[in-house]
Amino acid sequence: MEKLVSLAKRRGFVFQSSEIYGGLGSVWDYGPLGVELKKNIKERWWRSMVHEREDIEGLDAAILMHPKVWEASGHVAGFTDPLVDCKHCKNRFRADDPKIKGTPGQPDGQCPVCGMKGTLTAPRQFNLMFKTFMGPVEEDAAVIWMRPETAQGIYVNYLNVLQSSRQKVPFGIAQIGKAFRNEITPGNFVFRTREFEQMEMQFFVKPGSDGEWFEFWRGERMKWIQGLGIRQEKLRWHQHGKTELAHYAKDAYDIEYEFPFGWNEFEGIHNRGDFDLSRHQEYSGKKLDYLDTTTNTRFVPNVVETSAGADRTTLVVLCDAYREEAVKNEDGADKEELRVVLKLKPELAPLKAAVFPLVNKDGMPDIARRIYDDLRKRLNVFYDDGGSIGRRYRRQDEAGTPFCITIDGQTSQDQTVTVRDRDTLKQIRVASAKLLDYLKEQLTG
Ligand SMILES: [Zn+2]
Repeated sequence: MEKLVSLAKRRGFVFQSSEIYGGLGSVWDYGPLGVELKKNIKERWWRSMVHEREDIEGLDAAILMHPKVWEASGHVAGFTDPLVDCKHCKNRFRADDPKIKGTPGQPDGQCPVCGMKGTLTAPRQFNLMFKTFMGPVEEDAAVIWMRPETAQGIYVNYLNVLQSSRQKVPFGIAQIGKAFRNEITPGNFVFRTREFEQMEMQFFVKPGSDGEWFEFWRGERMKWIQGLGIRQEKLRWHQHGKTELAHYAKDAYDIEYEFPFGWNEFEGIHNRGDFDLSRHQEYSGKKLDYLDTTTNTRFVPNVVETSAGADRTTLVVLCDAYREEAVKNEDGADKEELRVVLKLKPELAPLKAAVFPLVNKDGMPDIARRIYDDLRKRLNVFYDDGGSIGRRYRRQDEAGTPFCITIDGQTSQDQTVTVRDRDTLKQIRVASAKLLDYLKEQLTG
């Protein structure tokens, strides 16, 4: 994992937030390559969940919502973790932190940081929502919360979307957006962060058909993840047992990936029953039931939810693409060397190609510039004239760039360039006039 974190910083995928001030705990910034990778993943999700389906509509709800939303959703009362404080060193821990010895609140309870005994408080419930104040006065009546999930923005807009889009149940609403959780034990790079981005879809169905739709969406989501190029043996299902199920859930499955720090969830498919709409109906006093005109019956729709983290999915893609390989030296020396390469699916790669002049003379930079300027109108490409060709290849391997294009002595004679494939290291000559077509074909294949 350290190697991946270091590569992510070196190549500009992910930086620690506010690093020059020592960093902000478990908050991360996406650099020039990271923002492209994450955007490619989000666009792929949006395309498959919204554009390719006539029964799903998109939404972009605000982060700030009426505080009653979080009472109705159960987050004010129930979105808590039991925590203990050390009265001596003021550190705070989860009550189930394995580093705590003895029993918190008792004389034998020992603080894992300062080592004092008997200074730990008994566990208290601590809400994970970030709290802030709306308007000029910091008073209880002005408290609002930073949303801890995007789903509630979908539930409160269910009627608006239903009526404006003229959809009929079954139909879904999809949203990508930021959410915030004041996690006490965050960590593992961008796996658990305090600010994160979700890709959620709530599918509203007739009660009784929820089990069938639940199975359907499990299948669809696994297919989508496999389409990212993730290795099958690194993926598995985990069904929530009775004790793991959230209070509202009828059934829930996680899709887990084998990260360098173990198997962990990065997407959940949940059968939420009619809990959400029923609660909002109760708390808002607004009817949220649905009139089925074919049978002339009314019901509160059940919800099947697919909930993915954009950051976690990006982490899965990075972890799965990371390889270290012994390869032949590409500057012509007769030796092997170790390369680090991100074998990203070309469609997801931040940079689609890099353009190099073999040497900075004999007119090669001029031709290379022209090719680069031409390509970047259509593709995100990179220009590099620094160092040996082998070193330039290595930098692009670490960026996951699928193709490297070199302009050499032969280019001015026959207008061809070499195209080097990231995975096979094979080089072929392509006519520069046909370069864009060639790349587009390779990138979508
Ligand atoms: Zn302490």
